[in-house]
Amino acid sequence: MTSDRISQELFTRAGAVVPGGVNSPVRAFRAVGGTPRFIASARGPYLTDADGNEYVDLVCSWGPMILGHAHPAVVEAVQRAAALGTSYGAPTRGEVELAEEIVARTPVEQVRLVSSGTEATMSAIRLARGFTGRSKIVKFSGCYHGHSDGLLASAGSGVATFGLPDSPGVTGAATADTIVLGYNDLAAVEEAFAAHGDEIACVITEACPANMGIVPPLDDFNLRLKGLCAQYGALLIMDEVLTGFRVSRSGWYGVDGVAGDLVTFGKVMGGGLPAAAFGGRADIMAKLAPAGPVYQAGTLSGNPLATAAGLATLRGATDEAYARVDRAAETVAGLATAALAKEGVPHRLQVAGNLFSIFFADGEVRDFAAAQRQDTRRYAAFFHAALEHGVYLPPSSYEAWFLSSAHDDAALERIADAMPYAARAAA
Ligand code: PLP
Repeated sequence: MTSDRISQELFTRAGAVVPGGVNSPVRAFRAVGGTPRFIASARGPYLTDADGNEYVDLVCSWGPMILGHAHPAVVEAVQRAAALGTSYGAPTRGEVELAEEIVARTPVEQVRLVSSGTEATMSAIRLARGFTGRSKIVKFSGCYHGHSDGLLASAGSGVATFGLPDSPGVTGAATADTIVLGYNDLAAVEEAFAAHGDEIACVITEACPANMGIVPPLDDFNLRLKGLCAQYGALLIMDEVLTGFRVSRSGWYGVDGVAGDLVTFGKVMGGGLPAAAFGGRADIMAKLAPAGPVYQAGTLSGNPLATAAGLATLRGATDEAYARVDRAAETVAGLATAALAKEGVPHRLQVAGNLFSIFFADGEVRDFAAAQRQDTRRYAAFFHAALEHGVYLPPSSYEAWFLSSAHDDAALERIADAMPYAARAAA
């Protein structure tokens, strides 16, 4: 048994001064039980905790670390930027270069930098409402778009992990204009447009949902959403905070080619520092202040350290790097499912490019209701046995598994060694 004494001590101290001992709920291991590991350092595909235990990391900071941890080019870029001052509250060359890089890789014509995915989606919604002059928005249950009030209705991710349909503190008024529909249910979208067509400002969707586990869009779902939005004069917001620059160099857009009128980004584009963005058609983006009347701002937006980390990460995320991530993801998915099959554990692998998740249940998962029918206790046993054998999985079965280009053969071998134990524990 590896020691987690120092993590336990830190968790106790944290509990006295930080609610639940963590600064983002899923970190608390509530869904799987036990003590969250307090991380002291990370390099390549490995995390080292405060007790000195090393793990192969399959969370990658929930997505950003596509090149692995402490990548030399990213560290050097951040160090160089820090030596020149950490924030100016004035424009910089780095912001221009990061915006150019995003525009070059994706369908957006213009982009505004912010500091978190939550800010990006919240701002995109405001812009969609400002542009269309309409109030209602459509979202899908199980899709997570951050924790702003109007979007915290039937959200996935941490909200799903904790079994909260909504959150106390979000008023009925804040979600009154949010229409929540089942994912992959095109008939429901058609009905919503038929009933409220001239009131709907936008449809927001994860380009490929990854926050209720991986639930890919079926039967041209994204394309048909785009068609319905165009027919009724609403905007389509593709949330690529998680998939952007991860599943391909241009995100899920690189997979299905459906361009949102607005697109949100985060995670990889900040290279592990707080950077996110929303962008889209130039005529829509022109409505943002100071060019237009829709207000949006941020003291640390386009922060020089974050733009340096983001640029170094995107420049390092070459076709060859994506090929390595893809290969690692395929190998790990194969190792995990083979081990589970050998032990007769009911499971279902769902894949979106180099992202995948394993539902501890039989049968295809097309929506949130199906995602919720899994055996979370089996996952907890699987998770802890993997942790004990040096593999750090997402501490919730509602999350995707994340690989990086640094997951080399040595890291994959460690995962191969751990999976039989994890599967046996879940049997
Ligand atoms: N949108 C999606 C699809 C996400 O996965 C997330 C975070 O996981 C967000 C938005 C919110 O991003 P942040 O946690 O940076 O606020």
